[in-house]
Amino acid sequence: MPGFELFGSAERKEVNDVLDNGVLMRYGFDGMRNGHWKAKELETELESAFQSKHVQLLSSGTAAVTVAMVAAGIGAGDEVIMPSFTFVASFESIMMVGAIPILVDIDDTLTLDPKAVEKAITSKTKAIMVVHMCGSMGDMEALQRICDAHNLILIEDACQAIGGMYKGKPLGSIGDLGCFSFDFVKTITCGEGGAVITNNKDYYIKADQYSDHGHDHQGSDRGAETHPFLGYNFRISELHAAVGLAQVRRLPEFLSIQQKNFTILREALSAIPEVTFRTVPEGGEESYAFLNFFLPDLEITRRASKNLKEAGVDGCFHYYDNNWHYVRKWDHLKNLKSLYPISEEIKMGLKYLQTKTFEQSDHFIGRNISCLIKLSWTEDEVKSRAEAMVKAITSALKVS
Ligand SMILES: *Cc1c(COP(=O)(O)O)cnc(C)c1O
Repeated sequence: MPGFELFGSAERKEVNDVLDNGVLMRYGFDGMRNGHWKAKELETELESAFQSKHVQLLSSGTAAVTVAMVAAGIGAGDEVIMPSFTFVASFESIMMVGAIPILVDIDDTLTLDPKAVEKAITSKTKAIMVVHMCGSMGDMEALQRICDAHNLILIEDACQAIGGMYKGKPLGSIGDLGCFSFDFVKTITCGEGGAVITNNKDYYIKADQYSDHGHDHQGSDRGAETHPFLGYNFRISELHAAVGLAQVRRLPEFLSIQQKNFTILREALSAIPEVTFRTVPEGGEESYAFLNFFLPDLEITRRASKNLKEAGVDGCFHYYDNNWHYVRKWDHLKNLKSLYPISEEIKMGLKYLQTKTFEQSDHFIGRNISCLIKLSWTEDEVKSRAEAMVKAITSALKVS
């Protein structure tokens, strides 16, 4: 992560194809396009990369999560179980469709704790949204078992774990619907973009039509198409898809660079006895987009985080003190600071956040540091980074 570090001639060529014929829209204008259908081509590439029957490209990862829920029929009053540690997009999109986000604890995988999920199920629960944070994954077998037992939809947000695998399957392809972001900082990027993947044809058709104002996409006259249901505009442009098309073809190369850099850093940190690493569920293989480790307590972790910054080691996050990824700082959600009136149902449904505590999540996020693995580092840079990290962490451990 992120794919923009290695932009080059491949990306330029794909974008120029689009500019040369001038059709920036993914639908229609068949005669002008000179055979260029970048969004369609990218969908085909993603079907094979993520071993899924259907892929719908969208304008963002947030759009992907929203459209996944819409396609599965999730809406007003439904409860969706999501983790306390994720990007704000998770609850934004749940609330956008009128549903209620039910936040539950994470465990040492840094993703949903299946025990906490089970406890949170009510008669209103419609779906479980697992977020594969920072390059690794939830316990998919345990979550699938819960979904089967309670007849719930399993949505995977794999935005931060592009290329990660679980028991031989790409993350995102295991649940009922998988969501990806190709925003500017993700492992492969379109600039802005996202995708929903699924093996369920009905979900796919709904995602395809909903994301283009309900257009049925039959025939070759857009104006004559019918609208089987209400829709919205979550379309991706051909320019964005063109960038993604060049990037997806380089995904295997990006993943192998991530793994190489990750391994050097992990081996260096393994020499520090107080450092432990996140748990990866059995049968899982990380995407190696981040290296995540735990220190003994919150104070040491804060000190280590400060030392890392001072040593110029960029891209290391202590999410406990971060505004965007952890419930502790989501005051705008807890206090419902909305620009427009929120439904009574959501207001009532979110009252629990006034009193709910997340001790177990605090225990893990308070002691976690998550370091971005870059693609453009030279081997020397990774090695001197490893040295600087060991030094920063060791010195944080000494003071006590
Ligand atoms: C990036 C991200 C999103 C949102 O994607 P955008 O394309 O930026 O809208 C959603 N979930 C997670 C976990 C993300 O990291």
